[in-house]
Amino acid sequence: MFKQIFLLGQKLRNPSLEKTYDFLKESEKWSISQLEIYQLKRLQKIVSIAYNSTEFYKESFDQIGVKPNDIKSLDDLKKLPILTKNDLLSNVDSLHSSNKFQKIFIASTSGTTGNSLSFKRNEEADSFNRASIFRGYSWYDLKPWESNGYFWGFSFSKSKQIKTKILDSLQNRFRLFSYEENEFKSFVNKLKNASLIHGYSSTIYQVAKLINENNLPKPKKLKLVKGTSEKIKDRYREEIQKAFGLKISSEYGATESGIIAFECPEGNMHLNMEGVIVEEIDQEILITNLQLESFPIIRYKLGDYIRLASKEKICKCGMKHHILEEITGRIGEEVYGISNIYPSFYFYYIFKNLDKEHQLLLNYQVIQNKKGELEFKIEQTLTNNETELLETEIKKYFKTDMNIRINDKTNIQSKKGKLKSFISNIN
Ligand SMILES: [Zn+2]
Repeated sequence: MFKQIFLLGQKLRNPSLEKTYDFLKESEKWSISQLEIYQLKRLQKIVSIAYNSTEFYKESFDQIGVKPNDIKSLDDLKKLPILTKNDLLSNVDSLHSSNKFQKIFIASTSGTTGNSLSFKRNEEADSFNRASIFRGYSWYDLKPWESNGYFWGFSFSKSKQIKTKILDSLQNRFRLFSYEENEFKSFVNKLKNASLIHGYSSTIYQVAKLINENNLPKPKKLKLVKGTSEKIKDRYREEIQKAFGLKISSEYGATESGIIAFECPEGNMHLNMEGVIVEEIDQEILITNLQLESFPIIRYKLGDYIRLASKEKICKCGMKHHILEEITGRIGEEVYGISNIYPSFYFYYIFKNLDKEHQLLLNYQVIQNKKGELEFKIEQTLTNNETELLETEIKKYFKTDMNIRINDKTNIQSKKGKLKSFISNIN
């Protein structure tokens, strides 16, 4: 039944997904030169769309005297200017293509600095993303409609939880809303029949730890444990393997970039070469999104440090797609309360809620110098009422386990040149 509901929903929402998935299953057998021919063709198309239909790229290419015709090889990409996060955030309007698209979605993100971005994503690009994920699933013999436990999207209002639960149940999905004992036990119970566990690796780790500590039953039908959105720390791996009997595999991507890499069963993160061109410059990743026509992203500094494997590295799985050795700089650090430990993505939700529910969009950085204490640096000037809203939102997540200080009108500091939303100076 879930299969039918899933396929119907997919047809309505993402009409081009099926075709794209078939293409990706075909291209996964391609040689490097076939992949690169395809990349060049897509790159030329994206560059031409960028130049001819966005104000931003027209101006920035003209400034250095480059025309779309100058892109004759993948190497020519280096002629184009680098796009920083700042460029992106301050030119959202002029980065959009004036072309018409059959169908668009609004994609939004809260970036690593806490700056939120919202842009239009054409249906083909959205479908390409999903198809890329489903291709990754297929390596584990996993169908997207199989039962899955989602460790993501903590939400605290009851009405939202109910709505989410209904939507989840249609997708054969259940999720963990809190670590509260009964809720947690019911979640672990449902895991028994799950084929997939996915979410932030720090949360998967926390759950694994609780399962191990309390000797709770281990899921038996799992095919894949997938960690997203942050570097998987080595100390997470052992705990997760022990709790779930499977190693954690990683999916790497971002809203603006799409899926960048997906780990194969042999443990290598293959670049999603049909979707992105990845450059490594001074250990930093630059992304060119080859599918996002409505909002071209070319040579974008995503803000992560990475290490690409040598192009000669061969994977036993048979895929020729280049390999990402390591994501070195997207660390999901823990936040220490007086008596408990919390994942740092709580900050993401605190500020996302403020924006969603109170139209209060803040640039922030949270600093922890001592366990049980947090300093919230806010760039904007806050009214008393706004400070109270922020305090209330923080309390929803940390209750009385944290002493907080809020400083508005502050400069947000960068660490090793990289702006971070959370800086921990503990250990
Ligand atoms: Zn492989």
